[in-house]
Amino acid sequence: MPPSVFRFAPSPNGYLHLGHAYSALLNFDLAVQTGGRFLLRIEDIDATRCKPEFETAICEDLAWLGLAWETPVRRQSEHFNEYRDALNELFAMRLVYPSFESRAEIAKLVAQREAQAPWPRDPDGAPLYPGAAKLLSPDERARRLASDAPCALRLDMAAARARAGDLGWIERGEGPDGETGAVTARPEAWGDVILARKETPTSYHLSVVIDDALQGVTEVVRGEDLFWSTSVHRLLQRLLGLPQPAYRHHRLILDGAGQKLSKSTKATGLRELRAGGATPADIRRLVGLP
Ligand code: GLU
Repeated sequence: MPPSVFRFAPSPNGYLHLGHAYSALLNFDLAVQTGGRFLLRIEDIDATRCKPEFETAICEDLAWLGLAWETPVRRQSEHFNEYRDALNELFAMRLVYPSFESRAEIAKLVAQREAQAPWPRDPDGAPLYPGAAKLLSPDERARRLASDAPCALRLDMAAARARAGDLGWIERGEGPDGETGAVTARPEAWGDVILARKETPTSYHLSVVIDDALQGVTEVVRGEDLFWSTSVHRLLQRLLGLPQPAYRHHRLILDGAGQKLSKSTKATGLRELRAGGATPADIRRLVGLP
């Protein structure tokens, strides 16, 4: 049997906190226990928020925790061509269309819909795309593409769903409501998700699916806040003919008030804890790992 491949995939848009430490240590421990491989991937497609100094700090903090990873590290910002190729494949299948509303116009459309009846929201609580860009004529589409209007490339969820058929995944951990084992994917709950924008030619969903496949990741171990994103990932994997990893979503580390940790809260930041004299063993204890 080839070794299992695990990965920790932070975004360098801030410093790591205890929640990241838990996820990274859990991936690393599972790799060691199963004789598997452990990869680090830098998810830096958002050029406005990601900074090289955060990437340096992430590597320092992970090394301090006792983690070792394979090199070279994959940095998403160096692979836009691969994401574009995948997007073009979906285009060729007629599953992607451009939409041109600004965020403010979308908010207005949602408000108009909600004045009549509740408008559906995705698993993260954001309203589904309410626009009708899918119905634009080819001429109108070309005219707007040539203009300065913002442009988001969306997956035609109904068409994608019809092409892909039934989907699911094997959950080795647990979703937010205790879902485990064979889980049925429900990508339609996200509506016509954005796969790329004019200024960023990929998205979290698209790049994570391409990277996991290109890096041969067999075990995706990540926080339960991404549990329902897996529905979209399974859909894209099926459409693009990519292999299906196993998934293990883990509990989140919460602060004293029961809230998700934030990258800007000093009390739970790894750098601050280290400066205050904490050892890597203390960090393991704080997140409940042996
Ligand atoms: N980059 C994502 C994050 O920092 C994690 C992506 C993943 O594990 O699939 O939340």
